Amino acid sequence: CGIIARVGETDDAVDELLVGLENLEYRGYDSAGLAVKNGRGPTVFKREGQISNLKDLLATEVPAGGLGIGHTRWSTHGPPTDANAHPHTGCSDRVAVVHNGIIENHDELRTELRERGHTFQSDTDTEVIPHLVEEQLADGATPEQAFRRTIRRLSGSYAVAMLADDSDAIYATRSGSPLVLGVRDGKYFLASDVPAFLDFTDEVIFLDDGDVVVIEPGQHEITTLDGEAVERPTQIVDWDP
Ligand code: GLU
Repeated sequence: CGIIARVGETDDAVDELLVGLENLEYRGYDSAGLAVKNGRGPTVFKREGQISNLKDLLATEVPAGGLGIGHTRWSTHGPPTDANAHPHTGCSDRVAVVHNGIIENHDELRTELRERGHTFQSDTDTEVIPHLVEEQLADGATPEQAFRRTIRRLSGSYAVAMLADDSDAIYATRSGSPLVLGVRDGKYFLASDVPAFLDFTDEVIFLDDGDVVVIEPGQHEITTLDGEAVERPTQIVDWDP
């Protein structure tokens, strides 16, 4: 239902993701979660129910990290449970993925992946994404290649954001689900909707269906799925919160 992501030099991503998640509450949700990267692979925290449940999980120790993705889930495939909350990882925890929308061909992808030995941890349509990415990584693809090849396999409506262990970037795309990019002094936010990051910036790049965005501290690149550069203007939004 709602996506928030943050890329920055300072290691306080979790605090800003939690603000973003609370700003997304108005969309409705049944579960919330986030993943943060702090040198090692992504670490995932997620809970069914209110954002306060997620905060309880983080109460003893807020993990440090500059990169993170967060999600409020409105279930379409699988009941609201901790396991079905996003982010989702594959078998190896090398990637973490959040997704809004519906992957229409998830059944056939899941069957195919199971035949190749993948074990699923959730009932969601979303979980096929990290498994496909992880297969590509195991085959020697870079995280960006793995992301692009995986997106090509999906049909349905989606906004997707991904963290991977070998990379200091967040990879994201949209097709039929909203996704906007917020910019401020080399720091970036991705969200389903502008209000999610208005506490941090009013400089916004509106993405179109088919755009792939790769963001790292201080730089971003928007391309088509085939890798051709795309120009999108930065706009200052005058949003009444
Ligand atoms: N289809 C996904 C799920 O059921 C994502 C739902 C959403 O957009 O929150 O987990």
